[in-house]
Amino acid sequence: MLSPSARFSALALLAIVAPAAIVAVIGYVSIRQWESSSELLYREQARDMATMAAEKVEMTLRRTEDAFLDRLQAVLRTEASPGRAVDALLAESPLVRRLYLVGRRGELVYPRAWQDGDAAVFGPLVTEREQAKLERSGRRVVIQEDQISLALLTQKNGEPVLAAFARDAETLRREILETALGSLESPTILAVLDRDGRTVYSRAPIGDAPSLLSVQFRDVLPDWRLAVYQTPGASPRQAVRRQAMFFTAALGVLVAVIVAGIVATWRLMRRETEMARLKSDFVANVSHDLKTPLSVIRMFGETLEMGRVTDEGRRQEYYRVITREGERLTRLIDNVLDFSRIEGGRQTYEMTPTPIEPLVRSTLEAFAYPLAQQGFKVEVSVAPDLPDVALDADAIGQALANLIDNAIKYSADERLLAVDVRVADGRLVIAVTDRGLGIAPEEQARIFEKFYRVGRSDTQGRRGSGVGLALVRHIAEAHGGDVTVESAPGRGSRFALRLPLERS
Ligand code: ADP
Repeated sequence: MLSPSARFSALALLAIVAPAAIVAVIGYVSIRQWESSSELLYREQARDMATMAAEKVEMTLRRTEDAFLDRLQAVLRTEASPGRAVDALLAESPLVRRLYLVGRRGELVYPRAWQDGDAAVFGPLVTEREQAKLERSGRRVVIQEDQISLALLTQKNGEPVLAAFARDAETLRREILETALGSLESPTILAVLDRDGRTVYSRAPIGDAPSLLSVQFRDVLPDWRLAVYQTPGASPRQAVRRQAMFFTAALGVLVAVIVAGIVATWRLMRRETEMARLKSDFVANVSHDLKTPLSVIRMFGETLEMGRVTDEGRRQEYYRVITREGERLTRLIDNVLDFSRIEGGRQTYEMTPTPIEPLVRSTLEAFAYPLAQQGFKVEVSVAPDLPDVALDADAIGQALANLIDNAIKYSADERLLAVDVRVADGRLVIAVTDRGLGIAPEEQARIFEKFYRVGRSDTQGRRGSGVGLALVRHIAEAHGGDVTVESAPGRGSRFALRLPLERS
């Protein structure tokens, strides 16, 4: 059969640690899933973003070129010799770097002659065969060293003419790419790569940012790609890791709090159980303590009442026993009542300047009979010229009585009681010394706890309720002082009640 505390521990383990472990496992698995799904989502978003950005670039570029071609077409339709008007149009179109207009048979309509090496570049693109192709598609972009746009237009005389122009790279970068991409909100870095993979434009320095993916531009920028790079530190995996770390820490704190809670509850429970046991012992002890003097009083009273005792000396002895047992009862009941008042927070003390010596001597007097009867050697030493001290005389008398009572109760073969009263370190010290059983060091702190009695066979036999020293300590502290013990098992004990001379 498990003990209640072991059962509690097992239950706590099952009720808290097991769910915590399950939560941890579920947490781990879902973080893994979350990690991969967020990575997937991130990539999808990046791809959508890239596709959208590429479309935007192409749309902007196409619009600019269409606008140019529309204006060129308008010029060609109205001017029989369009040279000047085209010059003017070119001056307003920075994207168009070199323009050639070629007739059906390959004759140059504009300008008059091929410049530099342009014949070699443009020549193959403006052949009759190429023109036939264009008739079907309308427009086309060819990317070689340069980006060359081709479009079929109509001249004033109704003849078709092929317009071929190269794009100005710097204008493309500045006016098209920058305009289209610069304003896009994206957590990634977007870059435009040419057909050789060189970065033509990027929204932010790429550095060694890892590449996520790239999408192809379509017909307006064939062979070019729009690439997406991951901003350093912004990978979804890292974000999830950070979150996971945060959750792990939170879980850890939670488990720690729960464990601390369990430990605290367990300790509280143990203390409560211990307290319940001590209380029931207390009730038994007090009842026993009350019964013994009562039966003595009754026995001696009845004997006297029956008039059987004729000898006056014996009668006097019986009266003394009755008085002594009555005093003991009073002390016991006072102890219990005071203790219950203290527990209920109702105890009050009345501090009045009191001469110490008479208080000590009158307290001792109450024990004169048992001390003499048990053969105690009593040594009293009270320092002369003690000042009056503000204290509650009843309470201090009761505390001292408890100490003396204990010295008698826990005496051994050598029966000595020494009461020493002096001023030390600015405090009044009332010390009660015995050569009795003594107290083991590990018990010395606990004996001042309420209901606590040293559970040894030699002390168990002696009557007591376990509240005496608790009361002494309370009284001492209520006076702004304390109570100390020096003791060694088998050698005896010295209890010292230390009270401040001046109450602050
Ligand atoms: P009790 O009613 O049991 O005497 P106390 O609070 O007065 O209760 O004392 C608590 C315990 O401290 C006692 O049970 C006893 O074991 C120990 N004790 C107190 N005074 C002495 C002493 N003078 N010598 C040895 N043990 C003592």
